Amino acid sequence: MSPARIVIVGGGFAGLRALYRLRSLGDRATITLVDPRSTSLARPSLPEVAFAAKPVEHSRFPLEHVVTRSGAHFVQRGVDHVRTGERQVVLDNGELLSYDFLLLALGARKAYDDVKGFDQYGYSLCDDEQAPRLARALEEFTGGPIVVGAAKSVWGTRVEVPNLAAPCEGPVAEIMFMLDYELRRRGLRERSSIRVFSPGRIFFEDVGPRVHADVEPLMARQGIEVTTGKVLDHLDAGSVTFEDATTWESALSIVLPPYRGSDVVARSPHLGDERDFIPTDTTMRHVDAPAVYAAGDATSLSMPKLGHIAVLQADIAAAALRQDLTGEGEVPPWRPEVFCIANRGGDQATLIYSNTLFGGDVDLTLDGASAHLMKWGFDSYYFHSAGHLPPDLATDGLEMALRAAH
Ligand SMILES: Cc1cc2nc3c(=O)[nH]c(=O)nc-3n(C[C@H](O)[C@H](O)[C@H](O)COP(=O)(O)OP(=O)(O)OC[C@H]3O[C@@H](n4cnc5c(N)ncnc54)[C@H](O)[C@@H]3O)c2cc1C
Repeated sequence: MSPARIVIVGGGFAGLRALYRLRSLGDRATITLVDPRSTSLARPSLPEVAFAAKPVEHSRFPLEHVVTRSGAHFVQRGVDHVRTGERQVVLDNGELLSYDFLLLALGARKAYDDVKGFDQYGYSLCDDEQAPRLARALEEFTGGPIVVGAAKSVWGTRVEVPNLAAPCEGPVAEIMFMLDYELRRRGLRERSSIRVFSPGRIFFEDVGPRVHADVEPLMARQGIEVTTGKVLDHLDAGSVTFEDATTWESALSIVLPPYRGSDVVARSPHLGDERDFIPTDTTMRHVDAPAVYAAGDATSLSMPKLGHIAVLQADIAAAALRQDLTGEGEVPPWRPEVFCIANRGGDQATLIYSNTLFGGDVDLTLDGASAHLMKWGFDSYYFHSAGHLPPDLATDGLEMALRAAH
C-alpha cells in the first residue's frame, strides 16, 4: 500500500507537536509541513523580549532543519485556501498539495487592524515584530500613565465552549507585573501609573476563586488597578477610549488585539465557523470534513487559547489520525485545563493550574522563585529541543505534586 499523504499546516506549538507524534508512522505516511515562516515562534517567551532584554532570537528556532530531521518535507510557503472536496491545499503561489489527511495548526490571527488607532498609538507583544517594538518604546519611556489590557474577541457558535471576552489574559498579567518590576528597577515607578482593563465581567475569567484569591493581593501590593467590563473602542495620542465613552489618559498603550480565525479558513468554503475558527469534535476532527483535523488556537474548541491546550489538542488529533490510518492506539480524552506560568519580573513568577472553567476541582497557584525556575526550564527545554516539551513523565509528575501540595 502506498504511504498516506499527511499535510500539516503551521509549525507552531500544535503543528510541531503533531509532527513529533506522527513521525513514528515511518514509511506508512509521508508528512509535509507547510509554513511561510522560516522559524517557529514560541510566543510565551515574548514578554521577556519586551520587558527583560531577552534577544528575540531566543523566542524562535529554524523550522526547516527540525522538520526534515523528523523525516518530513518542509514547504516554506503560505497556504491560501483548502479545497476539502478535492482534498487539496492551495499554496499562495498557486501550487497544489494533495492530501489523504490534513492537520490544520494555523494559530489565530491577532487582529491589530480591528483596533482603531493601533498602528499609530498602540503597542503589543504577540509576535516577533511587536515585542521588540515595545522593548524599544520602553527604553525611551520616562514616566507617565500606562494603560494595559485585552480587546474583546467574539466567537462563533458551531461548537459549545466557554464564551470568554478575552481568550488569553495571562500575557496581560505578565505585562503588568513585569512592567512594574522594570519601572521600579529604573526608578520610574513613582512617576508612572499602571491601569489595567479587561473586557470580561471578571479579570481572568478562565480560572476559579482560589486562583483569584491568590493573585489579587499580588496586584494590590504592586499598586496595579484593574477595571473590568471595559471594551476597548480606540486609541489616540495620549489616551485610550472605551465603548462606554470613558477615556483614560495614556502615555503608553499596550493592547492584546482581538483574536480572529485564520484568513486561510475565511477563504476556504465550508471550513470555518462565523469567526473563521475551525469547528471540530473532541477528537479534533472537523465536524463536516472527516479527513481534516485541527489543533491549537485555530480551532473553535481551544478556549482559552493557550499553548498547553494546543499541545493537548495536537496529541488527540495525532492519535485519532493514527487510528484512522492504522487502526492502532488509543485516542486520549479531551480534558482541557488551564496551565501557565506568568513571569512577574526578576526571579518571581506565578504558576496557575485550574480546570474549574470545565467543571473540575483543580484551582491552584504556585508563586515565587520556584515557579520562575519552572518557566525558565520549560522555555529552555522547548527552545533547545526545537519544539519538544519535557517528557510526559515529568509533566505528569509535576501535576500530581501540585495537586498533592494543595
Ligand atoms: C504574548 C503571549 C504569551 C503567551 N504565553 C503563554 C504561556 O505562558 N503559556 C501558554 O500555554 N500559552 C501562552 N500563550 C498562548 C500560546 O502562545 C498559543 O496558544 C500557542 O502559540 C498556540 O499554538 P498554535 O500552534 O495553535 O499557533 P501558533 O503558535 O500561532 O502557530 C501557528 C503557525 O501557523 C503558521 N501559519 C499561519 N498562517 C499560515 C498559512 N497561511 N499557511 C501556513 N502556515 C501558516 C504560523 O506561521 C505559525 O508558525 C501566549 C500567547 C501570547 C501572544
